Amino acid sequence: MEIRQALQSIISTFGLDRLDAQCLLLHTLGRPASDRAWLLAHDTEVLAPVLSSQFITLAQRRASGVPLSYLTGEREFYGLSLQVDERVLDPRADTETLVDWALELLPQLPPQPKVIDLGTGSGAIALAIKFSFAPAQVKALDTSLAALAVARENAKRLRLDLQFLHGNWLEGLDDQFNLIVSNPPYIAENDPHLSQLGYEPSLALSSGADGLDAIRTLLEQAPSRLATSGWLILEHGWDQAATVRHLLQQTGFSQVQSRRDLAGIERCSAGCWAG
Ligand code: GLN
Repeated sequence: MEIRQALQSIISTFGLDRLDAQCLLLHTLGRPASDRAWLLAHDTEVLAPVLSSQFITLAQRRASGVPLSYLTGEREFYGLSLQVDERVLDPRADTETLVDWALELLPQLPPQPKVIDLGTGSGAIALAIKFSFAPAQVKALDTSLAALAVARENAKRLRLDLQFLHGNWLEGLDDQFNLIVSNPPYIAENDPHLSQLGYEPSLALSSGADGLDAIRTLLEQAPSRLATSGWLILEHGWDQAATVRHLLQQTGFSQVQSRRDLAGIERCSAGCWAG
């Protein structure tokens, strides 16, 4: 079968997005996702039967809800190519909002600011910060050893110097940080949206009846671990901004504010700890 026909038949049989189908075919061919122009230029080339059956298997798994990044093993985040699989949350473009915000604050903090990313997963946030702001001393923490293994491999491959910690949020840590960042689990336990995310670790997704358990824990712990004028930035759900701002204010944070993601949804909230 020609490349063009293979793509067309996969798209119509499995109802996949053209982009997903192209990425899966490129992966099958051992080519990078950036090679979509190659597919167009070679669309009459014949696909060997073994490759075509590999392509069909991947398409079936994608259609059943497996994230594209788990199938190709790769996710681009903040210009970095991360390796990801079912051990970690598939990093979302929305989370780049949090990184943008951290990178605006970092130059205003003391030199070589101490930063910690709580629930680092693949390491996406911590790695993006270290890559874009080298003077930061960045720690990346997760409660999942499996996730930490993924984050460590990413740091090694990208040659970024992070310190990894195994732990439960800030419990037992005695450092003072200038910046604490986190994309914690925040989906309510009974949210129907969760059933579409069944291939990702539930530990990274949901947190209690209203989804805010992890955020409440972080807010209890953060004040004693923040240096004077340190900042806490949290990602949260599409309908949680007002509640999270309220919780930050109640805890005693100042300059409390939220920021919107690419879809215009208030996705992150932050506050400064005056000390
Ligand atoms: N933003 C993700 C989603 O709603 C969830 C990530 C998270 O819980 N931190 O699909």
